[in-house]
Amino acid sequence: MSLPIVAIIGRPNVGKSTLVNRLAEEQSAIVHDQPGVTRDRTYKPAYWRDRDFTVVDTGGLVFNDDTEFLPLIRQQAMAALAEASVAIFVVDGRTGPTPADEEIAEWLRQQKVPVLLAVNKCESPEQGLIQAAEFWELGLGEPFAISAIHGSGTGDLLDVVINYLPATAEVPETNEIKVAIVGRPNVGKSSLLNTFVGETRAIVSPISGTTRDAIDTIVERNGQIYRLIDTAGIRKKKNVEYGPEFFSINRAFKAIRRADVVLLVIDALDGVTEQDQKLIGRVTEEGRACIIVVNKWDAVEKDSYTIYDYEKHLQERLHFTEWAEMIFVSALTGQRVEKILELVDKAAESHKRRVSTAVINEVLEEAIGWHSPTVSRAGRQGKIYYGTQVSSQPPTIALFVNDSKRFNDNYRRYIERQFRQHLGFQGTPIRILWRSKK
Ligand code: GDP
Ligand code: GDP
Repeated sequence: MSLPIVAIIGRPNVGKSTLVNRLAEEQSAIVHDQPGVTRDRTYKPAYWRDRDFTVVDTGGLVFNDDTEFLPLIRQQAMAALAEASVAIFVVDGRTGPTPADEEIAEWLRQQKVPVLLAVNKCESPEQGLIQAAEFWELGLGEPFAISAIHGSGTGDLLDVVINYLPATAEVPETNEIKVAIVGRPNVGKSSLLNTFVGETRAIVSPISGTTRDAIDTIVERNGQIYRLIDTAGIRKKKNVEYGPEFFSINRAFKAIRRADVVLLVIDALDGVTEQDQKLIGRVTEEGRACIIVVNKWDAVEKDSYTIYDYEKHLQERLHFTEWAEMIFVSALTGQRVEKILELVDKAAESHKRRVSTAVINEVLEEAIGWHSPTVSRAGRQGKIYYGTQVSSQPPTIALFVNDSKRFNDNYRRYIERQFRQHLGFQGTPIRILWRSKK
């Protein structure tokens, strides 16, 4: 069950992240003042009275500026708004309404989502009311005077916010597929994103702090919604402060954690590197579905054995991930790129598939019939009584056995392969819990 979303909108420096942290009761989070410092704009859990919801900071919205990135940020803010039950438009009570506020207000008035106007930095109660009153002119109804730092006024605001949240039971499970595109710098992640997004371009050149906000991009194909996770992070790779390597791997880890399906992008010219191994290791640990996307296939000199050789190389270097499908593409020419989302659909389906206990035990019986568990040196044999799927995402199967120590790695892998082959878990890791019955 997904929680209703409250989106926080406003221009830079009005106090959006401070407010998010206040609502999410995470005041320990650091607020940086310098522009360009990376902050994580993630979805944070929050609650007020008996209502749980998620707050998301959509990033500093700017309309009137001439850098090329703005349309993208705006598109991202729209994506966040599209899924929100209510938006809080934050303005700075100390500066009064600015032309940028007016532009955002005008834009917000055209959106379908209900908007509450929070006039921040109103520490003094009397001053605050006067400051807030100036914002009636934005045409968004009554301004709420608040101080995100002190917390004053936020309770009144939240009382109204929760009125706009749908009753919990009405919030449908979203059927969107969350996809993280990860990989080393320059493997072609932004180029791939570009082709997914089509007309709404992502940015392929290195950029500065303008898009420091972690935001998702939503795309649709054949009625299926895909949430491409933290795509601002993809374009944030040239971060001088931390060095690109450190930076991208940590971002990638976070993106993996939020994803259903991970696209691990590999540069065909470089092959699998140590970082790719780290990434795939994390994908497996987190139990996410994964597709290995070998990009820049156009740049590889091919003979008839190349794909085969390449697959062998990948399999050797990416141990124990024979479950992940591979695809050879070129973001440059577009070759096979449209097939990626087909594989994503398949992997997402396997990832959440549930198999009945009867079917699992049929497969088990067959597997044991072909290969009974090995007998240990002490002459004791492992016995599998039965199995059942205990959860999905990733599929997790508990096997009840006499003594788990009696099953060696080879046998465990054999059983896993049998489940994979007969139950159609392509593209997803599966977990098997060996439970001793004492
Ligand atoms: P964002 O860019 O909109 O996310 O803004 P931040 O949350 O980073 O805050 C920008 C600046 O305003 C920081 O220096 C904050 O300390 C300051 N600030 C945020 N909320 C308040 C507030 O309620 N009162 C005052 N006086 N300053 C605030
Ligand atoms: P990112 O750092 O992973 O986001 O990589 P980019 O998308 O910025 O791409 C890095 C470089 O590789 C750019 O110069 C792209 O033009 C180039 N590139 C991306 N995809 C391909 C491809 O399929 N084939 C070739 N030959 N070059 C590509």
